[in-house]
This record gives sequence, C-alpha cells and structure tokens, in this order.
Amino acid sequence: MKMKGLRQIKPYVAGAQPQDKKMIKINTNENAFPPSPGVLQALASFDGQVLRRYSALENNALRDKLAENLGVNRDQIIVGNGSDDILALAFLSFLNSDDAVLFPDITYGFYKVWADLFRIPFEEVPLSDEFEIVTTDYINSINGGIVIANPNAPTGIFKDLSEVEAIVAANQDVVVIIDEAYIAFGGESALPLLEQYDNVFITRTFSKDAALAGLRVGYGIGSPKLISVINAVKNSYNPYSVDLIAEALATAAVEDYQYYERVNAEISETRDWFSAELRALGFEVLPSATNFVLTKPAGIAAESLFEFLQSKQIYVRYFGDKGRLSDYLRISIGTQDEMAKVIQVIGDLFV
Ligand SMILES: *Cc1c(COP(=O)(O)O)cnc(C)c1O
Repeated sequence: MKMKGLRQIKPYVAGAQPQDKKMIKINTNENAFPPSPGVLQALASFDGQVLRRYSALENNALRDKLAENLGVNRDQIIVGNGSDDILALAFLSFLNSDDAVLFPDITYGFYKVWADLFRIPFEEVPLSDEFEIVTTDYINSINGGIVIANPNAPTGIFKDLSEVEAIVAANQDVVVIIDEAYIAFGGESALPLLEQYDNVFITRTFSKDAALAGLRVGYGIGSPKLISVINAVKNSYNPYSVDLIAEALATAAVEDYQYYERVNAEISETRDWFSAELRALGFEVLPSATNFVLTKPAGIAAESLFEFLQSKQIYVRYFGDKGRLSDYLRISIGTQDEMAKVIQVIGDLFV
C-alpha cells in the first residue's frame, strides 16, 4: 500500500571514508596531525564512572574555556555535536523569513540541503569567474538572511574582513551566518565584528583545526540575543548534544591551543609548497587559506586524475558533474611526506 507522509530529500553526499591503512586519505579535509597530547591524556584518564549521568546541559566547562580563549563572554557561545549541528540549528533558529536566504552557488553543500530540509526559501548567488564572492550581490538585496563560509569551501578563497563587514552592516535586519570552519589556516576571523553588530553568528568546528573530526564538537559565537534564541531551539530538539567525553576532550584541546597553532602553521606551509608544485606542473590552483586546495589539472581530465590517484591509493575529492566544479579536484593537505608523494605520483604521469 502507498504510504502517506514520507519525506523525500536529496541528502548531502559526504566524502568517502575508506578504511585502508596504507592509503593517503586527503579527501575530507581532516587534520594531517594527531590530536594534541593533552587531548590524548584527557582520554586516557577519563573516568568512565561518570557516564552513568547525563552530560552537562550548559557545557559551562567548555564554553568558559572557549570564552577565555576567544575573548568573549560565556553567554555568547553555544556548543554542539559538530558544527553541522550548530549550523542546522542556526538555520532553524534564524532563517524564518518569507524572503529568500542568500548563499553562494559554490559553497559548503550542506547549506542547500538544510534549506530544503527545513523548507527555507533560498537563492544561490553565483561566484565570479574567479570563484570569488561578489560583495555587492549581498548588499541592497531584500533577503531572509545570508550564509557565507569564510574562507569559502571548496574554493579555499578567503574574503577580506572589510568586505564581510560591509555585508553584515548592510543587512542588520537579518542574521548573517559566517562559517569559519577553516579560519585557523590563514584567514582573519570576523570575531571583532561582534563588538559592533548583533546580527552576526560565527560557527567553528574542532574537526579540521583541532584534529577531532571523529569526536563531533563544534560551536557558534554571537550576541547574547542570538545565543538565547538558538539555545531555546537546541533545548527543543536535542539538549544533551555534547557528551561528557566530547566535552572533556574538546576542553583539553582548547587548553592545548599552542600545539594546534604549531601544527596548523606547518599545514599552511605544506599547502603553499604543494600549490607551487602543482602550478609548476601547469595546474591551475586557487589561492587557498585553508587545509585544502581546489585545482584544475592540466594534461589530464579531473575525473581521470581522480581515478588514477585512487588506483595508487591516494584519495582526493571529485565532485562529479557539477557545473564549474567538474574540471576540478579538491585535495586536502596531509603531511609534507604525503604531499611530496602525491606530487611524485602525479609527476610520473607526465614523464
Ligand atoms: C567540515 C565543515 C563543516 C562541518 O564540520 P563538523 O564540525 O565536522 O560538522 C562545516 N562547514 C564547512 C565549510 C566545513 O568544511
């Protein structure tokens, strides 16, 4: 019998998670380095007895540590089960207008999926021919909110803070969500805008810059007004979204920020070296402020190179037949040794 009420939706397609130990896995922008020593210590010494209890509803230990580190107040922070959780809650909490929400046509694929899932009207604004966000497209437009990843993904391109501010300033009647998943790899955070604007909501994650993708912790930073709205939605849905182990380990990660500054600087250096090597092979490489590069191969189609690399146990991301992206591969930055091996394997194709 035909059933009523079943939802049909095209889900977000995440990068594959192959389990082969020998492979070079540079397809989902995970950190090239292990979690910090303090995180591993916190895991080893975690007292399992406490798991009998629910986790802390307010997550004050983690929020206080983040507040101290970021120079904001506790009531400006919400934590969640990865930044995907925080972003989904932000869409539910802040984007309830009848006007279309604006985001770039090439950006984090989940934005469109959430807009569909939550039945939020949206408009995808084309990037320029250089894959840049065009500031004026977001100014003097009637809209129900704006979502921008900065640096953008999967382009890797960072948008100058003064231009982000212009967008925020011109849209003070709606919320502007700024996804800073990659901000630790070279960009400049929009955090200072919080002092002047209460319509900015910034999201961050421990997945990329803190090498904790498997732990699932992310957070949002905004005015106390926005945080109280999103907290009410969170508590209407899944109040205990950050478990006790996750909170303890994420707190340890914030305490170890100096370790992360060091390894992330190393990743940025490797990225610049790798980009130069690809360019020397004639590849186009977009200027990246992240731990990945978007590149258009020369002398071989993107899809063929993707398949060739996979045959050599090197996993990168190919987005398939998706308009402008179909000529490009997104390659996460692994260790210097891994990236040297990738250059060697690609170079061998052309001798
Ligand atoms: C990885 C990523 C996220 C999601 O991160 P999680 O915290 O692992 O859910 C959000 N936005 C962008 C742009 C990302 O690349």
